[in-house]
Amino acid sequence: MGTNQRTAIVTGGARGIGAGISKRLAEDGMAVAVLDLDESACQAVVDEIAAAGGQALAVGADVSDPEQVEAAVRRVADELGAPTVLVNNAGIIRDNLIFKMSVEDWDSVIGVHLRGSFLMTKACQGFMTQEKFGRIVNLSSTSAQGNRGQVNYSAAKAGVQGFTKTLAIELGKFGVTANAIAPGFIETEMTAETAARIGISFDELKKMATDQAPVARTGKPEDIAHAVSFFASEGAGFTTGQVLYVAGGPCD
Ligand code: NAD
Repeated sequence: MGTNQRTAIVTGGARGIGAGISKRLAEDGMAVAVLDLDESACQAVVDEIAAAGGQALAVGADVSDPEQVEAAVRRVADELGAPTVLVNNAGIIRDNLIFKMSVEDWDSVIGVHLRGSFLMTKACQGFMTQEKFGRIVNLSSTSAQGNRGQVNYSAAKAGVQGFTKTLAIELGKFGVTANAIAPGFIETEMTAETAARIGISFDELKKMATDQAPVARTGKPEDIAHAVSFFASEGAGFTTGQVLYVAGGPCD
C-alpha cells in the first residue's frame, strides 16, 4: 500500500451494516480497524478483508466506555496508522412504548449511540486536525423523524444529526468533514430483532418494507457502505454537515 493510505475505524464493524462498511472502505484502499464489543467477533470480517488483499485489524471496545475508547484508538494509531476516517456505526435497540420503557433502556440506547459517538469522535479528532484531513460519518436513521416504540432510539438518532452538524462547524477549518447517513430498512440482525419483537417473521417484515419502498426492495449493508464510501472519499471535502437519507425513497 502507498504511504498515503488512510486509516479508518468502523464501530460496530463485526456484523450487519458495519461489516459492509468495513469491507467497502478496505476495497477503497484504507486500512480498517473493525471495532466491536468482542474482538474475536471482528475476526471473520478482518479475515475476509485480508483474503481480498486489504489490511484490517480487529479491535474490541465498548464505545460508551471512555477508557476502552482511549485504549482502542491509541492501539489503532500504533498498529494501523493515525485514524483520520471514523464511522460511528455501533448501535443497539431497546424498543418499548414510553409507558413501559425502563430508565436502563433509555440510558443504554443513548449511551451507545450518542455518548459512544461523542467519545469515539473526541478520541479521534486530534489525529484528524493534526493531519489537516478527517472524515467523520455518523449513522442516524429514518427513525429520527419519529417511530412508535422507539423514543430512546429516535431521540438518539435525531441527536446524532445535531452532533454531526456541530462537528462540521467546529472542525471544518481543519479539513475535517462530518456527515450523517440515515438508513431506512436494511436487512441485518437488528431488523430481524425488530420482527421478533413485534411478533412476525423476518420475511413478513421484509415484505412490508418492500411494499412501502418506492424502489420496491429492502436495503442491504452495501447500499449504506456505498454512501459512506462517498463521504469518506478524498474528493468529498466540500460536503459537510449533511444528513443523507438512504431509504429507497424520499425523506425530509
Ligand atoms: P446490528 O445490530 O446488526 O450491528 C450493530 C453492531 O454494533 C453489533 O455488532 C454490536 O455488537 C455493535 N455494538 C453494539 N453496542 C456496541 C458498543 N457499546 N460498542 C461497540 N460495538 C457495539 O445493527 P445494524 O443494523 O448493522 O446497524 C448499524 C447501525 O445502523 C446502527 O447505528 C443502527 O442504529 C443503524 N441503522 C440501522 C438500520 C437497519 O435497518 N438495520 C436502519 C437505520 C439505522
